[in-house]
Amino acid sequence: MSHDTIAAISTADAMGAVSIIRISGPDTFEIVKKLCHKDVRNMEGYRMVRSEIYDQQEVVDDSLISVFHAPYSYTGEDVVELNCHGGVYLTHKILQLVLGLGARLAKRGEFTQRAFLNEKMDLSQAEAIQDLIVAEDEINTKAAIHTLKGSILRVLRPLEEELIQMIAHIEVNIDYPEYDDVEMLVESDILPKAKAWRQQLEKLVLESEKAQVVKGGVQTVIVGRPNVGKSSLLNALLEEDKAIVTDIAGTTRDIVEGNIRIGSFSLHLIDTAGIRDSNDRIEQMGIEKSKKMIEKAQLILLVMDGSQELTIEDQELLEQTKDKTRIIIYNKKDLGSKYSGVQISASTGQIEALKEKLEALFQQEVLAASGDTLANDRQIGLAKAALGAMDQAIASLEAGMELDLVTLDLQESWNCLKEMSGGRSREGLLDEIFSRFCLGK
Ligand code: GDP
Ligand code: ZN
Repeated sequence: MSHDTIAAISTADAMGAVSIIRISGPDTFEIVKKLCHKDVRNMEGYRMVRSEIYDQQEVVDDSLISVFHAPYSYTGEDVVELNCHGGVYLTHKILQLVLGLGARLAKRGEFTQRAFLNEKMDLSQAEAIQDLIVAEDEINTKAAIHTLKGSILRVLRPLEEELIQMIAHIEVNIDYPEYDDVEMLVESDILPKAKAWRQQLEKLVLESEKAQVVKGGVQTVIVGRPNVGKSSLLNALLEEDKAIVTDIAGTTRDIVEGNIRIGSFSLHLIDTAGIRDSNDRIEQMGIEKSKKMIEKAQLILLVMDGSQELTIEDQELLEQTKDKTRIIIYNKKDLGSKYSGVQISASTGQIEALKEKLEALFQQEVLAASGDTLANDRQIGLAKAALGAMDQAIASLEAGMELDLVTLDLQESWNCLKEMSGGRSREGLLDEIFSRFCLGK
């Protein structure tokens, strides 16, 4: 439990009709008593009461206050939320009164940090709250809510459980070698289990990485020979003039980029310079860059001029991008199209066919992103560390190493999993093991 009491404005910028000032910590009720001339200490929790707010004897606002008693609050401490009338001046004035009565201004995320420290949530959930606040699209919001509800724990629990059984099994054999033939144990039991476990976790990591990609925005590169309408397409997609449209071939030398949202996912779009053989040095750099961009891209929008025959350059680009996830787009349909497929007119903003294609393409990915996966790079990193430790354990098992060594690697693996939700201790592991196995001593 913290010894100081913190306060902050919990609503954005105090611009709305109502502002909420949150107070949390041991002196909360004492501060509120002086601020509201009202003792809410014995008031029932999860209730709101109407109360005036005072600057000494002067009434400064008529507000609603919500009362939460430790540990039944967001932070796990005594909490009062003042729902005062909005407005920058009034909200800040009331916050200053609260601070004047002994609260300290809360640091960023400090309420959530306290919630974590007081075991109201695990680390993955605390992270999810942050993700939820910054989420700008449906996928990220869904994923954060999913995590908040404990999806990480749901995914990890079976893995933790199996791991602990392996560790316990080995520990028992180390302590009581006469109970089992250690060699037998290793060959017939632990090794296949370790391998199966590894496979499961690896699958989770791969799925999580895929989901991360979708959540972070799909890296999308617009390619095509000069003048087919790449910049026009980017503009149409961004619905603003970020790229300069011109009719002189090869003028888009710098890569121009922007983010768009299609349905529930985001694309990070990059317009490349025209890719073609060129002697011009500046343009050459642009072309090299473009080729790298194609390699790194997760999605290629290959633009062709649909009103003309395909050129050799078009054929080359078709060849260059054939192994990538791509959409072939025939632009300038207003001039008549020679090809069937995704036909658009970028300069007149007729790009529905492309948008539909994009939505269809990502239906699957959307499902993947909102499933039970690890929520962020920190968790994925830890999962990979857990995999690494398990690899080590498997190698040791196969080499017939001492079980003491194997169990160290398994414990490291367990530590990594535990760290995802913020808990990490060998005592914790031993507690887990001994709560399961009665060794009679
Ligand atoms: P980029 O070199 O591939 O980026 O091509 P731009 O976007 O700069 O476009 C080249 C020229 O084609 C410009 O004059 C555009 O106005 C024109 N253009 C682009 N899209 C269309 C379209 O859908 N229809 C017609 N008629 N012209 C287009
Ligand atoms: Zn361009």
